[in-house]
Amino acid sequence: MIMCTLDVETLVGEEHPARLFWGFLERVDLSEFAAGVRSREGTAGRPGTDPRLLIAIWLYAYSRGIGSAREVSRQMEWEPGFRWLAAMEVINHHTLSDFRVAHQAALERLFGEVLGLFEHEGWIRLERVMQDGTKIRAQCGASSFRGRESLERHLERAREHVRRVSASSEEEPRRQRARERGAREREERIEQALEQWRRLKETKQQDKKSYQPKVSLTEPEARIMKTSEGGLVPCYNVQVSTDAGHGLIVDTAVTTEVNDHHQLVGAMERVEERFRRRPGQVVADGDYTTNRSVVAMAQRGIDFYGSWSRAAGRGGWRSHQAPEFRKEAFRYHADGDRYECPAGKFLDFSGRQVQANGTVQRFYRSPTEQCRGCEHYAECVRGKTRRGRVVTHQEVIVEVEQFRRKMETAEAQRIYRQRSEVAEFPFAWFKSFFRLRRFHVRGRAKAGMEALWVSLTFNLLRYFQLQRQRMTPAAA
Ligand code: SF4
Repeated sequence: MIMCTLDVETLVGEEHPARLFWGFLERVDLSEFAAGVRSREGTAGRPGTDPRLLIAIWLYAYSRGIGSAREVSRQMEWEPGFRWLAAMEVINHHTLSDFRVAHQAALERLFGEVLGLFEHEGWIRLERVMQDGTKIRAQCGASSFRGRESLERHLERAREHVRRVSASSEEEPRRQRARERGAREREERIEQALEQWRRLKETKQQDKKSYQPKVSLTEPEARIMKTSEGGLVPCYNVQVSTDAGHGLIVDTAVTTEVNDHHQLVGAMERVEERFRRRPGQVVADGDYTTNRSVVAMAQRGIDFYGSWSRAAGRGGWRSHQAPEFRKEAFRYHADGDRYECPAGKFLDFSGRQVQANGTVQRFYRSPTEQCRGCEHYAECVRGKTRRGRVVTHQEVIVEVEQFRRKMETAEAQRIYRQRSEVAEFPFAWFKSFFRLRRFHVRGRAKAGMEALWVSLTFNLLRYFQLQRQRMTPAAA
């Protein structure tokens, strides 16, 4: 055993990330984090931990790929960066984990304030923003997903357990309160799961009767999603908007949507709210490129670059139909807004339908009697229907046509090719360097906070790198 004196300042160098995080936090207002601290100088009781220290510890922890509060607390005993930050003190893991999820509004404001500083210094211009999403695993396992009957059985058992725990009184008061709280929380979680089950059932548009959703008993908001690794696992969908200029994240959100079809408008609205202006351009992949998002971006004056899938709407039963009775064989008459069939009869306009992706379908129907009396009835009219032939026609959307033409140009393709490099870079950091392949917290709101912590860590590390490059241009 060696006893020696140690100058804490020498534990880390001038450019050590712990020191950089700590120094940066001097520039921002953290008073909102301190609002809940009850300990006051000069009064009795244990002193509270400085929020600036806790924020710096979490930023430094994520930068080292540590998301477990227990592991952070353990490393505070020996790791130089943590020891320098906390001046050789060790902070209890309960304090660390509670702090991480206790200040949602303050954390969002801190994220916004840091972005404001970057914008002021010219690192963010919003000329071009890349939008992308990734699936990050939820805490729960796939085996915790249950149907309605199973959820109801579990709820009944949880209520019974609450009654039993409340009636028992042999425990010491503190343990009794803890047991009651635990039992009530489980009951509430299962009630939430049943509520989620009802919502999912209601949102289903087609096959509503046969659709039987399953919801996790332990994390009701998590959804089974297809991941880039190929598996179907309980996840949240993390949406990130990245400024293409210097690769800084300008927005982060966590959703329970299994795909990205409806995420672009919300992301652009959040960016606009934060910066009080809209991005000049936005680039997103085919998952975001729908009629609805193309029109919405055009209406907002945002120049949208995406990937259009021409395969949508192809195939189906028509591909098995004789070519002389497929839709292409029906002639459209614009003057009367009707189709003429191969037998020389007319199909009049019967209605239009707006679909979820913003596409508008127009329906043209031949009268039932007209088709039944036709010699081509069996070849022309689908399956067992006893009604007349229907032909659909997709309405032309001006904005979509302009978008299609633009995306055929070499310049648009050049801009689109930058997408993966910029948009997927933060996710590579999240998963490889910060090791965030599974959230360390439960529930969408807390997962959203953890996504904010890693986005803030990413932005600050990127900012330190940019500053170094500015000071030593030769190294850039
Ligand atoms: S079945 Fe109806 S739509 Fe088809 S060719 Fe005959 S009349 Fe025309």
